[in-house]
Amino acid sequence: MRPEENKLLTEQAYINGKWKSGSKSFSVINPATEKVIAEVADFGVKEVTQAIKAADTALPHWQKKTAYERSDILTKWYFLIHKNQDALTELMTLECGKPIQESIGELSYGASFILWYAEEGKRAYGDTIPSPNPSNRIVTIRQGIGVVAAITPWNFPLAMITRKVAPALAAGCTVVLRPASQTPLTALALAKLGEEAGFPAGVLNVVTGKDSAGMGEELSTNQLIRKVSFTGSTAVGRTLMEYAAASIKKISLELGGNAPFIVFDDANVDAAVKGAIAAKYRNSGQTCVAANRFFVQDGIFKEFSTKLAKAVKDLKTGNGLKKEVQVGPLINKSGLEKVIEHVNDAVEKGAKVLTGGKPMKGLFYEPTVLIDVSPEAKLASEETFGPVSSLFRFKTEEEAIDMANHTEFGLAAYFYSQDIHRCWRVAEKIESGMVGINSGMVSTACAPFGGVKQSGIGREGSKYGLEEFMEIKYLCFGGN
Ligand code: NAP
Repeated sequence: MRPEENKLLTEQAYINGKWKSGSKSFSVINPATEKVIAEVADFGVKEVTQAIKAADTALPHWQKKTAYERSDILTKWYFLIHKNQDALTELMTLECGKPIQESIGELSYGASFILWYAEEGKRAYGDTIPSPNPSNRIVTIRQGIGVVAAITPWNFPLAMITRKVAPALAAGCTVVLRPASQTPLTALALAKLGEEAGFPAGVLNVVTGKDSAGMGEELSTNQLIRKVSFTGSTAVGRTLMEYAAASIKKISLELGGNAPFIVFDDANVDAAVKGAIAAKYRNSGQTCVAANRFFVQDGIFKEFSTKLAKAVKDLKTGNGLKKEVQVGPLINKSGLEKVIEHVNDAVEKGAKVLTGGKPMKGLFYEPTVLIDVSPEAKLASEETFGPVSSLFRFKTEEEAIDMANHTEFGLAAYFYSQDIHRCWRVAEKIESGMVGINSGMVSTACAPFGGVKQSGIGREGSKYGLEEFMEIKYLCFGGN
């Protein structure tokens, strides 16, 4: 199918229930072929402001609906997403390069947040609190916070949207979404299906454009916005937090990671290799929860590194639209250059290449395993965001924990051990928001996703994800 034959492909932005073309447009590139897929409306600050006003106007009507009425629309949206799986996953693979099997997985994961929050919105309970004053009665109610600004990255063009937009809408908030300019097509397709599901005009707005800095500033400073929810790099998150501080907006930040993956001598090595492939090579290593540093205990180092290198060598790289492909391209030239720089730097500092280690044609990089990596190498401290495993040795449990925690990030961490006492000890000492214990995949709609340290603030998914979009109001009834 050619991209223009995709029934969900749209190049117009969606503001106040209307599809709008811009006087300018920008190109969306398929990273697997580096060809243009579409020319999307290039809007800016002015249109963001319009969308915010539309969302503010739509707010009272949306807030007044019962949680059950909102749930009905969200549930329709969920089923429409599944019904349109082929068109949506094709767009996802075309614009972000991930293998089609991963797009199918992301669709199912991303849609699950909609169904979860369609239900969870009905359980936004308050409290009754015993009062110390006999004539007072104390209750709390929870209300949607207001207009939400959502800014999302390219690496999960569907799930990073639904993970914040679904709880916001379920809570009774209206939303202005600015998707990454590399991947606006999935966002616009979601809006199309949202319109079909029945969201009233202004409830969900998607503004596309290249001016990420200007649009981001408006979204995090406009007085009508009550909550900013951002997923992306720590550097941009910091800037948005500074902007939001001026008007004390509530803010959620899902930021970068530098996940440790520890393999202890008592691990099941085959399971650890399987977990490592999932935690590292999914989306070509371009996930915030990607294992970035592998710490492997001395006694098992040879077996683990040999088995991992063999499994990595067998991974099939190519255009994600081909069913058999397991690893796609990097998103763009600067993504590729960072991987090249990190591997070259590690090799210069003494690392040995067990497999891979070189760029391929276009934006592809060979799935790579490095051993004997120096702690001074860039990939020990920076997020590589590419298909590269760097293995470090350790001797004791304390040493592994120290090395794992030696980072300003704290999003995900993984470790493999068959000793239950060690599992508890290590899990409690690791400084991260999420810990995979004998598991290389932790994300699911019912569990809280988020980081500590400079990996972010707040949680997405689970009952905690709804709270991010709600305020608690305390009502004191006197004179009883
Ligand atoms: P990024 O540069 O921070 O971009 C993320 C989003 O912010 C995009 O929509 C981008 O738009 C926009 N943006 C860029 N500069 C901005 C600015 N000055 N003001 C406002 N918005 C701005 O991040 P990225 O490198 O594309 O994405 C990868 C990063 O996201 C990694 O660090 C990864 O770990 C993190 N991430 C975290 C999670 C999580 O849940 N914790 C999930 C996925 C990704 P344009 O692309 O159009 O410039």
